[in-house]
Amino acid sequence: MQKPSNLLIKVARRLFENEDEQTQFINALFAPQPFFPCILWCQEKPDVSPFLLETPTPWQPEFIDRLHLNEKPGQHSLHQEGYFYCLDFSSVFAASPLLTIQQPISMIFDMCAAPGGKSIFAWKALKPNLLISNEVIGKRLGMLISNLKRCQIQPSCVVNRDPSIFAESFTKSSDLVIVDAPCTGQSLLAKGGKAPGCFHHTSINKSANRQKRIMANSAQVVAPQGYLLYMTCTYSPEENEQVCEWFLEKFSQFKAVKIEHLSNYQSHLTDLYCYRMFPHQRLGAGAFTALFKNTEDGEVNTGNIDTILAMNKYVQGINESSYWISTHN
Ligand code: SAM
Repeated sequence: MQKPSNLLIKVARRLFENEDEQTQFINALFAPQPFFPCILWCQEKPDVSPFLLETPTPWQPEFIDRLHLNEKPGQHSLHQEGYFYCLDFSSVFAASPLLTIQQPISMIFDMCAAPGGKSIFAWKALKPNLLISNEVIGKRLGMLISNLKRCQIQPSCVVNRDPSIFAESFTKSSDLVIVDAPCTGQSLLAKGGKAPGCFHHTSINKSANRQKRIMANSAQVVAPQGYLLYMTCTYSPEENEQVCEWFLEKFSQFKAVKIEHLSNYQSHLTDLYCYRMFPHQRLGAGAFTALFKNTEDGEVNTGNIDTILAMNKYVQGINESSYWISTHN
């Protein structure tokens, strides 16, 4: 019989002092068990649920349902009709700091958006005047656009550029920037998937450097007094706590926000307000999340957003400059 790899054992030892917890974590990745399916209601939720429901966690919003293990929500006709979006409960955990934002959020910029789960969560939770969902990898645009269209996420638009472009052209424009960063994807193992090389230090370092670059560019896009949400679906501290520590050192105008409802999930690997969910807690495959607030004062730059809103039309398909625009008519 195969044994867990040495690299996985090493990660477990770095993450947990307690040996039992190390073993539980390793087992969750080595012998994955299914998690409860989860859906996000984009449209009005029916009075009587079409699914058997699990008991909600105290902090999940009413537009989220966790379903009985045997439910197959993706096969239900309401899915095709755009009533709900299927997502891992870890995504709900990671996006849940958005539920604490009290100020009006006019403009949301999702920097790493495909296939669209966090964009849809943010849109539902914060009802912005405009959602811009960016996906830099061309072949991932189709699923992002089709999900936003199917779920009728309006007003929204999809763009396809490297974050450095927006650092220049959308400076200080957005009340909320979401960075659901590309990562080594270690939590895929807890879902029975594959993530080759995900524990190797070369992959981890490469990924951490990319995350820092995305965060540095995204910081420029956050409006004064706006928010930046950082999250990953991986476990290594280099891609999580260490990115956040680096970020706050470099961009001292930001501060980490305490998220009361996640206090039981505070990361013990840093003093910053950073939160982790692990697969052996049995809610989802695992995630890391931290919310930052820009404490700077000043004017919000709405120039380019006004231009997008002025293009009040639908553009079908994607071309080189790639905008799918869907605004209120
Ligand atoms: N937010 C998505 C959701 O909730 O459905 C999942 C995003 S996934 C974790 C990370 C995304 O970042 C991928 O779609 C990937 O193509 C994109 N990405 C890869 N390299 C990137 C880069 N250099 N800058 C921005 N995004 C990048």
